Amino acid sequence: MKKYEAIHQQLLIRREELNQRIKKLSNSARHIDEPLTADFAEQAVERQNDEVLEALGDAGRHELVQINHALAHIEAGEYGICDSCGATIPPARLEILPFSDLCVACAEKQAAE
Ligand SMILES: [Zn+2]
Repeated sequence: MKKYEAIHQQLLIRREELNQRIKKLSNSARHIDEPLTADFAEQAVERQNDEVLEALGDAGRHELVQINHALAHIEAGEYGICDSCGATIPPARLEILPFSDLCVACAEKQAAE
Protein backbone atom coordinates (compact mmCIF):
# COMPACT_ATOMS: atom_id res chain seq x y z
CA MET A 1 0.00 0.00 0.00
CA LYS A 2 1.28 3.39 -1.02
CA LYS A 3 1.93 6.01 1.62
CA TYR A 4 -1.17 8.13 2.18
CA GLU A 5 -3.20 5.72 0.05
CA ALA A 6 -6.04 5.78 2.61
CA ILE A 7 -6.17 9.57 2.54
CA HIS A 8 -5.93 9.52 -1.24
CA GLN A 9 -8.97 7.23 -1.47
CA GLN A 10 -10.85 9.30 1.08
CA LEU A 11 -10.18 12.49 -0.88
CA LEU A 12 -11.29 10.92 -4.16
CA ILE A 13 -14.56 9.79 -2.58
CA ARG A 14 -15.10 13.19 -1.01
CA ARG A 15 -14.39 14.91 -4.32
CA GLU A 16 -16.98 12.77 -6.06
CA GLU A 17 -19.54 13.58 -3.35
CA LEU A 18 -18.87 17.29 -3.69
CA ASN A 19 -19.09 17.18 -7.47
CA GLN A 20 -22.48 15.50 -7.22
CA ARG A 21 -23.68 17.95 -4.59
CA ILE A 22 -22.53 21.00 -6.54
CA LYS A 23 -24.20 19.67 -9.68
CA LYS A 24 -27.45 19.16 -7.79
CA LEU A 25 -27.23 22.58 -6.16
CA SER A 26 -26.64 24.42 -9.38
CA ASN A 27 -29.52 22.56 -11.01
CA SER A 28 -31.94 23.61 -8.31
CA ALA A 29 -30.57 27.15 -8.21
CA ARG A 30 -31.25 27.46 -11.92
CA HIS A 31 -34.73 26.01 -11.47
CA ILE A 32 -34.20 23.29 -13.98
CA ASP A 33 -36.32 20.94 -11.89
CA GLU A 34 -38.93 23.47 -10.84
CA PRO A 35 -39.75 26.62 -12.79
CA LEU A 36 -40.15 29.87 -10.81
CA THR A 37 -43.61 30.31 -9.36
CA ALA A 38 -45.66 33.26 -10.47
CA ASP A 39 -46.59 34.29 -6.94
CA PHE A 40 -44.42 37.23 -5.86
CA ALA A 41 -44.04 36.21 -2.19
CA GLU A 42 -43.07 32.71 -3.19
CA GLN A 43 -40.58 34.09 -5.65
CA ALA A 44 -38.93 36.04 -2.83
CA VAL A 45 -38.65 32.85 -0.77
CA GLU A 46 -37.22 30.99 -3.73
CA ARG A 47 -34.68 33.71 -4.28
CA GLN A 48 -33.65 33.41 -0.63
CA ASN A 49 -33.30 29.68 -1.06
CA ASP A 50 -31.12 30.33 -4.07
CA GLU A 51 -28.79 32.40 -1.92
CA VAL A 52 -28.54 29.61 0.62
CA LEU A 53 -27.90 27.10 -2.16
CA GLU A 54 -25.26 29.38 -3.62
CA ALA A 55 -23.49 29.69 -0.26
CA LEU A 56 -23.51 25.90 0.07
CA GLY A 57 -22.17 25.62 -3.44
CA ASP A 58 -19.38 28.08 -2.68
CA ALA A 59 -18.38 26.14 0.43
CA GLY A 60 -18.33 22.97 -1.65
CA ARG A 61 -16.28 24.57 -4.38
CA HIS A 62 -13.83 25.90 -1.81
CA GLU A 63 -13.44 22.41 -0.37
CA LEU A 64 -12.97 21.02 -3.88
CA VAL A 65 -10.07 23.39 -4.46
CA GLN A 66 -8.43 22.15 -1.26
CA ILE A 67 -9.05 18.53 -2.21
CA ASN A 68 -7.54 19.00 -5.66
CA HIS A 69 -4.57 20.73 -4.10
CA ALA A 70 -4.05 17.84 -1.66
CA LEU A 71 -4.51 15.25 -4.45
CA ALA A 72 -1.95 17.01 -6.62
CA HIS A 73 0.49 16.92 -3.70
CA ILE A 74 -0.13 13.22 -3.13
CA GLU A 75 0.39 12.46 -6.82
CA ALA A 76 3.58 14.53 -6.89
CA GLY A 77 4.85 12.76 -3.77
CA GLU A 78 4.86 16.05 -1.91
CA TYR A 79 1.95 15.35 0.36
CA GLY A 80 2.51 15.54 4.10
CA ILE A 81 5.49 17.85 3.72
CA CYS A 82 5.29 21.29 5.27
CA ASP A 83 4.99 23.97 2.59
CA SER A 84 6.89 26.40 4.72
CA CYS A 85 9.81 24.53 6.31
CA GLY A 86 9.85 21.16 4.53
CA ALA A 87 9.30 19.15 7.71
CA THR A 88 7.17 16.00 7.61
CA ILE A 89 3.65 16.70 8.83
CA PRO A 90 2.67 14.07 11.45
CA PRO A 91 0.14 11.56 10.03
CA ALA A 92 -2.11 12.16 13.05
CA ARG A 93 -2.40 15.80 12.01
CA LEU A 94 -3.20 14.83 8.41
CA GLU A 95 -5.93 12.50 9.60
CA ILE A 96 -7.67 15.39 11.30
CA LEU A 97 -6.73 18.01 8.71
CA PRO A 98 -6.19 16.23 5.38
CA PHE A 99 -5.80 19.56 3.55
CA SER A 100 -3.12 20.85 5.86
CA ASP A 101 0.10 21.77 4.09
CA LEU A 102 1.84 23.21 7.14
CA CYS A 103 3.41 21.45 10.09
CA VAL A 104 2.11 22.31 13.56
CA ALA A 105 4.89 24.77 14.30
CA CYS A 106 4.44 26.67 11.01
CA ALA A 107 0.64 26.66 11.30
CA GLU A 108 0.93 28.14 14.79
CA LYS A 109 3.40 30.72 13.55
CA GLN A 110 1.07 31.67 10.72
CA ALA A 111 -1.94 31.86 13.03
CA ALA A 112 -0.02 34.13 15.37
CA GLU A 113 0.91 36.58 12.61
ZN1 LIG B 1 6.75 23.74 8.91
